[in-house]
Amino acid sequence: MLRRTKIVATVGPATDDIDTTDELIRSGMDVARVNFSHGDFETHQQRVNVIRERAKRQDRHVAIMVDLQGPKIRIEGFKHGFVELDKDQPFILDISLGEKDGDKNRVGVTYKDLMNDVEPGDVLLLDDGNVSMAVEKLEKNEIHCRVHNGGVLSDSKGLNMQGGGLTAGALTRKDLEDIKLAARLEADYLAVSFVRTAQDVRQARWLLEAAGGQAHLVAKIERADAMDHIDEILDASDAVMVARGDLGVEIGNAELPGVQKKIIRRARNGNCIVITATHMMQSMIENPQPTRAEVLDVANAVMDGTDAVMLSAETAIGKYPVTVVERMASICVGAERQRVTMISSLRLDAKFESIEEAVAMAAMYAANHFDVRAIVTMTESGKTAKWMSRISSGLPIFAMSRQIATLRRVTLYRGVYPIYFDIKDGQRGDQAQSDVLRELLRLGVVNEGDSVIVTQGELTGVVGGTNSMKILVV
Ligand code: PGA
Ligand code: MN
Repeated sequence: MLRRTKIVATVGPATDDIDTTDELIRSGMDVARVNFSHGDFETHQQRVNVIRERAKRQDRHVAIMVDLQGPKIRIEGFKHGFVELDKDQPFILDISLGEKDGDKNRVGVTYKDLMNDVEPGDVLLLDDGNVSMAVEKLEKNEIHCRVHNGGVLSDSKGLNMQGGGLTAGALTRKDLEDIKLAARLEADYLAVSFVRTAQDVRQARWLLEAAGGQAHLVAKIERADAMDHIDEILDASDAVMVARGDLGVEIGNAELPGVQKKIIRRARNGNCIVITATHMMQSMIENPQPTRAEVLDVANAVMDGTDAVMLSAETAIGKYPVTVVERMASICVGAERQRVTMISSLRLDAKFESIEEAVAMAAMYAANHFDVRAIVTMTESGKTAKWMSRISSGLPIFAMSRQIATLRRVTLYRGVYPIYFDIKDGQRGDQAQSDVLRELLRLGVVNEGDSVIVTQGELTGVVGGTNSMKILVV
């Protein structure tokens, strides 16, 4: 049985050698995430080249997702690398302090405008909330705080504000340069960090296109403020990521499960792809087995309807990068056997907005109500496959295309599998049909006598022309 939920794995020092890359692809990495928060361009480029080359050898399509650093706000460093803060002690965030000059009384901050965004009473969360402090007063370049939760605080830890409200724009100067590099890498996806509004996504898309990039845009939902604009963000984005690390710090753990479910539901309704990310298999950075809580977390995300689950440090710097992908894959397959993941009444009463969408929905309705073995969509852009993948079903959706970019992109869509299929320009759809069935037989995904649903346009090889659905018997 094919796994429907896709796996995004962050690549890094732990995955660099060729054998590991090979095994990651073999064990189920569908999308490789290149994290621009760490490393230089040469390293990223090298990784991307190796992944593409090894994927090709295995006859697999693997998408590359470039993840921009964004305005991650951090404290600067300490003279001795860390300090231990006591509950109720005063502590100063000093905008003008040097990079390594922090001590038990004060530390520098990377975000120089922090002064303008905070006021007395605000609660600042450092190191994912391990240390918290309340703002008491502002003085010149100093934010005077009182420590709530004490503990060890070390160099360059992240800083968030409880409830959100930091106004830093989503794209930093570094991101503007990195968008051009993403275009040069021919990234398939570009993830924008700390998105606040749809405008952040539109701006990134515009800059990417100006640099000649074709990537689809992923909005990382990791600010409390983004939830106030979630529908317009979904509208402006091709995919969203439930970035539970920073999001959890800002909105609080208690809100996180509800928000995850809400984002997934809205994304599927809004024709958007959704990735669930961060800490899914965290303990496997060190251990060869996940905890039961992690097993349940991954399975629950699958049952919520996520398109993909993501690994960060687990693969990039973990001790068991290949094992964690294998374990995650098998948890997904187990969760997909549950009935909730196979039935869907989504959009049953909706009004469709285009011919392609109507055909895609008709195909899924027929697929779920008739004895069909597979769904095939002959697609140039992958759009029909995306609509189909919003509807739950137990059937594989084969996206057949000659467009390599499309084949890579659909690797992120739940239940969609790319198949390279070349068709002559303007070849008539019915002429291509017997070739399609022959290819499915050759791949061993159908048997003689099986019924297959095929959607296509009048003329294959034309974007946006899908206007028919057929049921063929192999
Ligand atoms: P990051 O984003 O790993 O780039 O911080 C994900 C998250 O915050 O969950
Ligand atoms: Mn983050």
